[in-house]
Amino acid sequence: ALTIGIVGLPNVGKSTLFNALTRNDVLAANYPFATIEPNVGVVPLPDPRLEVLSDLFESERVVPATVSFVDIAGIVKGASEGEGLGNQFLANIREADAICQVVRAFADDDVVHVTGRVDPADDIETVNTELILADLQTLDKAVPRLEKEVRGKKTDPTVLAVAQLAQEVLGAGETLFAARDRLDAAGATPRILRELGLLTTKPFIYVFNTDDAGLADGDLQARLRETVAPADCVFLDAKFESELVELDPEDATEMLADSGQTEAGLDQLARVGFHTLGLQTFLTAGPKESRAWTIRRGWTAPQAAGVIHTDFEKGFIKAEVISYDDLVEAGSVAAARAVGKARIEGKDYVMADGDVVEFRFNV
Ligand code: GDP
Repeated sequence: ALTIGIVGLPNVGKSTLFNALTRNDVLAANYPFATIEPNVGVVPLPDPRLEVLSDLFESERVVPATVSFVDIAGIVKGASEGEGLGNQFLANIREADAICQVVRAFADDDVVHVTGRVDPADDIETVNTELILADLQTLDKAVPRLEKEVRGKKTDPTVLAVAQLAQEVLGAGETLFAARDRLDAAGATPRILRELGLLTTKPFIYVFNTDDAGLADGDLQARLRETVAPADCVFLDAKFESELVELDPEDATEMLADSGQTEAGLDQLARVGFHTLGLQTFLTAGPKESRAWTIRRGWTAPQAAGVIHTDFEKGFIKAEVISYDDLVEAGSVAAARAVGKARIEGKDYVMADGDVVEFRFNV
């Protein structure tokens, strides 16, 4: 499964957030045989459509899609030089598919800030500088090798051009993710970027760990949003979230409403993370379960079928697809068929978000 690595300076609330992320009974109930690793938090993707389908089909249970977060040891200045946890830290980031940076934006005199003051933009720069330096080191080694290989006609010159542009971008203090349009224009394919093994090409998400004042401050949020663009960001109060997950659902809903928020921060983070990873869901529904399944955006019907069972992909014949909205409006599969809203799709069909699907296959 794709994972999102959680990074950030010490004392910004990473552990608090991660503990909240790992405390969910929904998953324990639905994935009893899943091996849960201590540093991986598997979080349900909130999807109100599942409850509606569950009512419609009188499903015994609801199974949401999930997003996985990995807790990566705290970054310190000098990580790129391999000090202390540095090497392990970089290796862990290399394995993650996206980087979620937790940034302190709460005021609390009892919690020491590593640099002595709360300055989100400054903290982001500190963390990103370490990642940028690590990438520059990687390129300092790779570029002379690539130059030689291009001279010997063993490597596509595009790879070298991308590496050199990357050096330029990083040298100016920018992450490669922020400059992805320029890299794309220079011919950087996902494969080239993967081969170069660079950290800052991964998609970034920022979590601003803030307090009541911050959650109510639209101007502050707009400023921070702009600071991190094109990366997506979420504003939440990690301490509040960790209290919220301890409550039963009704009390949690009430506490959330009392705080003036419409959606829990963890739910927002799950959604943003899922989207940042380039994922989408399709739905299945029946008396046994109503379920959301995870696929990559752009996947075809047979690929989607393969997520349910590899045999489904191999023996794929066709899929009966009803859009969620059409299904709910019709009230049942039979009614949707009667009004021509049930489509039969073949092996080239590209899945759309909200497709409720039944696959037909040979075994
Ligand atoms: P980490 O070093 O980044 O993992 O940070 P921790 O999660 O251990 O948090 C450091 C300290 O900050 C702890 O004392 C937490 O209770 C506190 N803390 C974390 N999040 C919040 C928050 O949103 N508000 C306040 N006031 N304190 C927080």
